[in-house]
Amino acid sequence: MQALSERLNTLLAGATMFRADLLGFSSLKTYAPSPDSVLGHRLVSVSRRAKYLVWEFDDGVRIALHLSQAGRLDVEQPPKQTRPRGSAVRFVFGRGANAFDGPSVGVLIREYGTHRKASWWVLAPGDDGPLARLGPEPGSDEFAELIRTSTSTRHLTTDLRDQHVMSGIGRGWGDDILQRARLSPFASFKSLTPEQREALLSAAIGVLDEALELERTREGGLSEAKLGGRFKVHGRADEPCPSGCGHALRRVSFESYEMTYCPTCQTGGRELKDRRMSRLLK
Ligand SMILES: [Zn+2]
Repeated sequence: MQALSERLNTLLAGATMFRADLLGFSSLKTYAPSPDSVLGHRLVSVSRRAKYLVWEFDDGVRIALHLSQAGRLDVEQPPKQTRPRGSAVRFVFGRGANAFDGPSVGVLIREYGTHRKASWWVLAPGDDGPLARLGPEPGSDEFAELIRTSTSTRHLTTDLRDQHVMSGIGRGWGDDILQRARLSPFASFKSLTPEQREALLSAAIGVLDEALELERTREGGLSEAKLGGRFKVHGRADEPCPSGCGHALRRVSFESYEMTYCPTCQTGGRELKDRRMSRLLK
């Protein structure tokens, strides 16, 4: 997401938004300001906050876009008029006096599959909308402080993917980070030694830095949906552990999702038991 925001910023900063074509009505989460309010305004920057792409305009209005799991973003040069299946919105930017004066660029947001979860918000100046109450970003002082001092008793895997606790990790990177830090996904902050906290901090920063370096070198489309294979642990159950311990990664179910971990490196050789939420126990 960080690399995507950097590429969009390079491509579009300074351009003017000429059109916002709503192609799917459920994706827009705000009523006011209207998307039309940014038309004719210059895009100052595209940046990332947690899993949101934040588009800031010269009048202080921002658009926050959350692609969600199945969402993708296509850049169209020149913009198309099509309405592919799963389309949510198409933004059209240009650098001339109007959309058809000089080269223009379309940005199509769409989703694969049947779940419509990609969402966007038009935020008035001073309104943080979904960006409010997000936890600190890895790499910040606040993030380091959190890792060193948290006394949370929740599972680490839960805290790592909770955007209100810390931003921009999620379950995929969470698996990779915990494996590198050699911590059980079912451990909690409260149980960690100072050495384990430092290991978690350096694993989090290391894993995310490497991921970003890799993403920056990636050529081709700007899609977020085709990033499978970027994880070294997540989703790789039965493959060899990347630490070279000689054992295979295992998967375990927790609530409604699956985690991948190495029993040898992370849980003292123990296989974790599934902890699925039972529908019978409410
Ligand atoms: Zn291992």
